[in-house]
Amino acid sequence: MKKNVLAIHAHPDDVEILAGGTLARLAAAGHTISIVTMTPGDCGSAEHSREQIARIRRMEAARSAARIGAKHHCAEFGDLGVFNDDASRRRVVEILRRLAPDLVITASPVDYLCDHEATSELVRDACFGAPLPNYATGAADAASPLAAIPHLYFMDPIGGVDRDGRAVEPDFFVNVAAQMEIKTAMLAEHASQRAWLLKHHGIDNYLEMMQTWTHENGKRAGVEYAEGFRRYKGHPYPQTELLQELVGAGVMWK
Ligand SMILES: [Zn+2]
Repeated sequence: MKKNVLAIHAHPDDVEILAGGTLARLAAAGHTISIVTMTPGDCGSAEHSREQIARIRRMEAARSAARIGAKHHCAEFGDLGVFNDDASRRRVVEILRRLAPDLVITASPVDYLCDHEATSELVRDACFGAPLPNYATGAADAASPLAAIPHLYFMDPIGGVDRDGRAVEPDFFVNVAAQMEIKTAMLAEHASQRAWLLKHHGIDNYLEMMQTWTHENGKRAGVEYAEGFRRYKGHPYPQTELLQELVGAGVMWK
């Protein structure tokens, strides 16, 4: 049974770093993948205007998604402008209704960046609201409510740690050793970010950092490369292990 899978995170490149290999696996198995970023990454440059860098990064995100046959959509918030408020929740619900995912994979509830944490909360609560018939999004030509709350999973935080540097433990890992080439190719599409990291953080190892981190997770999972995930367990969200079922033999329990 083919499923609709939605990966939704704050900025262009977050999904690639944290879940690109797993999405490539799911795409190869014939599932439909959508990648949503809350923002177009409009503050991710020291040399371009907001409009210029947003245009560049939309193209990069679209090219990255296309490498696994996925589509990229932007929720049209701005960098450092993602908040879990009424209008934003309605906007995210409308996106969920239009894409009608069976499975949603989003940001970790704790992470180093406010947009990441707000995205996690917003998506969690939008999943709850998406099936409610009386919850109106106010969108023109609004989509129908979902039949049910989708399965919800969290990616790891960036670097696998919370704001105090403590490890945030995933429930399980997905073996992405065979997907590292395409994962790296997806991330490499975000060429503007390598330049930006060099300028803003003084590091010129954009791809290498992702590979090192994915390898560290792999070591914990007993394979060469892995990505970690947690299932959201709150009532009344689906309590079955859909992501693990779809990944099958690639799941590495801790
Ligand atoms: Zn981000």
